[in-house]
Amino acid sequence: HLKGTGAGALPPMLEQYVALRDQYPDYLLLFQVGDFYEAFGEDAERLARLASITLTHKTSKDFSTPMAGVPVRAVDAFVERLLSLGLKVALADQVEEPGAGLVDRKVTQLLSPGTLVEERLLPADENYLAAIASGDGYALALLDLSTGEFRCAAFGSRAALYDELGRHRPAEVLLAPEFQENEALLAEFRARFPVMLSQASFEPDVCERELAQTLGHTPPDLDSVALRRACGAALGYARFALQGRLEMITRVQRFDPSAHLNLPESAAAALEVFRPNSPGGPTLLSALSETRTAAGRRRLRAWLRAPLLDETTIRARQEAVATLVAQPDRRERLRSALYRAHDLERLTARISTLRAVPREVAALARTLELLPEIAGVLEGLGGTLGGLRERLSGLSDLPALIRAALVDEPPIKIGEGGLIRDGFDARLDELRAEAIRHRQWLADLEAHERARTGIPSLKVGFNSVTGYYLEVTRAHQGRVPDDYHQIGTLKNALRFTRPDVREREREILRAETQATALEAEVFSRLREQLCQHADALSRVAGALGDLDVLCCLAEVAATRGWVRPQTVSGELSLKQARHPVVQQALGDRFVPNDAELHPERRLLILTGPNMAGKSTYLRTVALCALLHQIGSFVPADAARMCVFDAIHTRIGASDDLAGGRSTFMVEMSELASILHGATPRSLVILDEIGRGTSTYDGLAIAWAALEHLHRTGAFTLFATHYFELTRLEGQLGGVVNLHVAALEEAGGLTFYHQVVEGPASRSYGIGVAKLAGLPPRVTTRAAQLLAGLQAREEGAGDAVLGELESLDLARMTPLEALQRLHELQQRLRAVAPQEILP
Ligand code: ADP
Repeated sequence: HLKGTGAGALPPMLEQYVALRDQYPDYLLLFQVGDFYEAFGEDAERLARLASITLTHKTSKDFSTPMAGVPVRAVDAFVERLLSLGLKVALADQVEEPGAGLVDRKVTQLLSPGTLVEERLLPADENYLAAIASGDGYALALLDLSTGEFRCAAFGSRAALYDELGRHRPAEVLLAPEFQENEALLAEFRARFPVMLSQASFEPDVCERELAQTLGHTPPDLDSVALRRACGAALGYARFALQGRLEMITRVQRFDPSAHLNLPESAAAALEVFRPNSPGGPTLLSALSETRTAAGRRRLRAWLRAPLLDETTIRARQEAVATLVAQPDRRERLRSALYRAHDLERLTARISTLRAVPREVAALARTLELLPEIAGVLEGLGGTLGGLRERLSGLSDLPALIRAALVDEPPIKIGEGGLIRDGFDARLDELRAEAIRHRQWLADLEAHERARTGIPSLKVGFNSVTGYYLEVTRAHQGRVPDDYHQIGTLKNALRFTRPDVREREREILRAETQATALEAEVFSRLREQLCQHADALSRVAGALGDLDVLCCLAEVAATRGWVRPQTVSGELSLKQARHPVVQQALGDRFVPNDAELHPERRLLILTGPNMAGKSTYLRTVALCALLHQIGSFVPADAARMCVFDAIHTRIGASDDLAGGRSTFMVEMSELASILHGATPRSLVILDEIGRGTSTYDGLAIAWAALEHLHRTGAFTLFATHYFELTRLEGQLGGVVNLHVAALEEAGGLTFYHQVVEGPASRSYGIGVAKLAGLPPRVTTRAAQLLAGLQAREEGAGDAVLGELESLDLARMTPLEALQRLHELQQRLRAVAPQEILP
């Protein structure tokens, strides 16, 4: 069970290694040997390969096995690398001082992407461990152990569950067996989520027990087997990974995804809300990056993940943003205070698991000391901001408590002393004074002994091997008194000690050891005292996060001239709207546009050349709707906006390579879910439907889809290159044509990015082809062909219509009529673009 060569039995250390390794089969075990963490056998080969380190061999009398190691002090960087490669790592440390025999070792940390609690390994954003299970429906549990956030939700369908899971991008997922046993499901899952999959127990009894152990009871709103299994499995796995330290989790919050605006994962991706479509590009989130704290940034993401449906809450947030926009002075003072705050959410989680180190506790004090300042700025405000002021209260005693106990700049570690302030603990002061007294005695000893012996060069020194010594040069050897005992010989000098020196030395060591132990004890008591306030701390942390987001939204609105939208029903009206992200890049060159939607103008068909700005316009409207529903101002000069229940988008072409579906298939399945999901209160954005198939197919599908959306009553914006669709205006009430203005001149096309009423006059494809540098012979020829096509299409159509009109049906037999129809049809088909021309 350890790869190697040789007939002999394993040396004892390797036996210990194998025993530990086998206890944690899912983990790569790193085994401390002095200053290195080592892996052996096959794991060594794997480690060497993955971390690009040298493979050596551990060889004893009659056994040899591969070995690879990383220095203890550099282990973090390696662990980070291994985690990012999808491995889980167990650290087995030496837990006693090396002596004669085998050193005892224990696994002290189990590290996996979703269970990290160490600040140095964590990403700044939320870090979710997710669990999914079924059983009377589907359920998702989400756990962020770095903050103690624990939430869950139930779903009616697997698709809805996957969508929510995708929105949260967990670092690690636990799949109930029913998801793993089904090959197809597992394959679909792997194709969609680049996450680490781990094992956990989803047995209902085990899960119930886990819930009871962590939360004290099974919360009544976990009212399905699926919910209890997902939550219980997440807790059980976290308990295992953190070796029991789950105190940061005090409750589970059930959320209802349908209580929020439905922004499907595909829409969030297409609108580049959280992640750019090209690496390193800007996103809506990055365009809003005026938060001042890590907690604020996480909160902003949470708001964007769950936009509101409730008008009252939307107005309350708007009101708070408006106040902060109108009062730049208050805003600046708040932002400056927030800038000095530490990540209170994570500090609180560390306090409540009693993991916080002295420096973190000092950071907690500094952060809490900002609260009176913040509350002072919020003084006299009502509404949401007044409510926040109240949520920030109640912890005013803690900073003084911490300050009294801790020195101003405490060390990171507990075990080395120097963290408790003088005067805080009488016994500690006494021990420190004793140590100082003895040191002083030793410091005085040199002068004293020089006078007594008459040796001017006599020195008192210290080294870690022999301790304190008295040093006399050989020249004065004769004057050394009898009470000196020689303990060392140098080339030119001799070293001595004396019983009373030894005694002092022991006293110093004793006082200092006791003092350090006592400091650790005092610190633990302080930490436990703080832990009592965990609930209040997490309430304050939440309030600071909210305040940070409101300040951020106000800062963005104030500095970029955004406007407070008026929340209305049945209408969307934007004056001079800008795309919040594109405008950041283009500045004044961005051309603002109006948008107007209401029941009599609910389906806008947008035509115009490629690159004219159609997509940008569509996205501008969608992003303004999203911003409105998180309570933000919007990038426009005036805005009246209704509350949408969903924003559906079908934008751009993306092959689902992993899932093996063609572009067209992806497009159609997205369209299908939009057509099924859209309601009269939805916003639907469609950019180029039907591209992936033949012209007539695509046109027919787009046409029928528009008719369907028209029936649902959803507000729809549709950008297309099918000019035929512009005929829908006039045929269906509420359909209006728009186009993006462009001017074709001798030299090529000029884009104005201006959206105006009416259909575009013609296809500008050839103009764009010129711009792109196609050879002139090609574009000239294309223009010729196009002219011929259009002439023929119009000509043939007109002729056929004329003949059809003049047919005297009364004088024809059914067979004749059928033959004539066939002929006419053939003539129309002859001009189909695929049979190219003149
Ligand atoms: P389309 O969808 O019509 O092909 P896009 O919306 O992708 O066009 O826009 C093409 C380019 O034009 C964008 O990259 C952007 O830089 C620029 N653009 C679009 N809209 C505007 C605007 N309103 N003002 C200024 N530039 C714009």
